[in-house]
Amino acid sequence: MPDSSYLEWPFLDGSHRRLKAELDQWCETSSALLAPAQEHERGKADLDAICRGLVELLGEGGWLVHTVPDMAGDAGQQLDVRSLCLLRETLAYHSGLADFCFAMQGLGSGPVSLFGSTAQKSEWLPGVASGHSIAAFALSEKQAGSDVSAIATRAERDGEHYILNGEKSWISNAGIADFYTVFARTGEAPGSRGLSAFVLAADTPGLSVSERIDTIAPHPLGTLVFENCRVPARQMLGEPGQGFQVAMATLDVFRTTVAAAALGFARRASDETLAHVLRRELFGAPLAELQMTQAAVADMALDIDTSALLVYRSAWAKDGGQQRVTREAAMAKLHATEQAQQVIDRAVQLFGGLGVTSGHVAERLYREIRALRIYEGASEVQKVIIARNEYKRFEK
Ligand SMILES: Cc1cc2nc3c(=O)[nH]c(=O)nc-3n(C[C@H](O)[C@H](O)[C@H](O)COP(=O)(O)OP(=O)(O)OC[C@H]3O[C@@H](n4cnc5c(N)ncnc54)[C@H](O)[C@@H]3O)c2cc1C
Repeated sequence: MPDSSYLEWPFLDGSHRRLKAELDQWCETSSALLAPAQEHERGKADLDAICRGLVELLGEGGWLVHTVPDMAGDAGQQLDVRSLCLLRETLAYHSGLADFCFAMQGLGSGPVSLFGSTAQKSEWLPGVASGHSIAAFALSEKQAGSDVSAIATRAERDGEHYILNGEKSWISNAGIADFYTVFARTGEAPGSRGLSAFVLAADTPGLSVSERIDTIAPHPLGTLVFENCRVPARQMLGEPGQGFQVAMATLDVFRTTVAAAALGFARRASDETLAHVLRRELFGAPLAELQMTQAAVADMALDIDTSALLVYRSAWAKDGGQQRVTREAAMAKLHATEQAQQVIDRAVQLFGGLGVTSGHVAERLYREIRALRIYEGASEVQKVIIARNEYKRFEK
């Protein structure tokens, strides 16, 4: 039986507990619709259709409204990060691809939610919330992944427009997105201080998908090319030169949710393992009775609880009004993704041959967790962020 004791922690309130119960219930009743997405054998063409279908399903279920600010609510009302985390954790537990589709709606539209004008929010966010429009976040380039200051895509002012030229790689939802938030060099200052953010419809002339990229846990991913792509200046998000801030503030929110997804994968691995070791007979007794199994199970439980504490601490701090949660989010992402990898590796080991059998849940989780330690800032990058924040406390 899944652990729900953390729902009583003071980071969460009654509305979060209700949300979690409703989503659990929905995932149970929608399991047939979520399950096909877990079959790793599916080809790329099918994968696109599955992802479009999942976005629609999540929209119809009413879950995607949590990926954008409440448009009807108070002006300035932001995303509820604890809800985002609970939703990602729960979706990841049931289906990695459903979590991916949910997450990308939030990440892709995050720069609009956080820095868009009222007109920009009204134009782009309702489709995200309903599932009628698919979002993508285009920051990385082949030579600029961890090093955002190396971004080479340029946006040059031409009257009331900007002309974009360059390439973005490793872009999730490339090919199925209806719009992209894009970061390009506008040159106000050197390095990361000379970037600006834009929002572009996928059918903007001059924007195309040049390649699709296959990964160990497939999802739509590819490279975008901008060739004299003409974008009205009113499609800039925030101010000229504010692009790095837009990207980092968006990642501040969504890094914590990556940690939550890792937590969901780890919880699933742990629950599957517990059921297995209690059932599996070895040397005349359940595998669970061997002390080395108990050590592995204890480590898994500890890794999960420490990750959950960091995830919900970070989300709670953001929701409580802390402007930036860079340190908390970095700690949550670093710890939860690294520990989820460990939890899942132990699960694979305890399943023995079954654990590496294609299509087995442990094998699927083993592939699904890996990229989370790399994207939205690799683990080493999170360590640098944490260390810099530690130094700041002693700097004048
Ligand atoms: C599945 C997937 C989906 C993605 N989706 C998106 C997306 O939707 N939008 C987007 O913009 N990008 C996306 N990315 C790109 C992702 O953000 C980058 O891959 C990531 O930032 C790492 O950049 P890189 O691949 O260029 O690796 P590099 O920057 O070349 O880094 C390679 C390795 O070097 C090490 N390293 C990095 N920095 C340091 C440091 N300071 N000190 C020590 N070691 C270090 C790390 O181990 C790192 O993994 C995605 C990537 C993947 C794998």
